[in-house]
Amino acid sequence: MTLLEGSNIQCPYCGEQIELSIENSIEEQQYTEDCQVCCNPISITVNAVPGSSAHIEARQEND
Ligand SMILES: [Zn+2]
Repeated sequence: MTLLEGSNIQCPYCGEQIELSIENSIEEQQYTEDCQVCCNPISITVNAVPGSSAHIEARQEND
């Protein structure tokens, strides 16, 4: 079963809140998503914790 969890992150460029859909069935994932507000590429790291909320980190891609 795939669980999608809606989570908010803060864009490291413009500071806006962005809503993401996190797939809980993958323990660790990293991908790049463009900010919906300023269109800069955000490097997103997700660490899913079983039975708990995922830990999400958002960084500038070239950080
Ligand atoms: Zn932004």
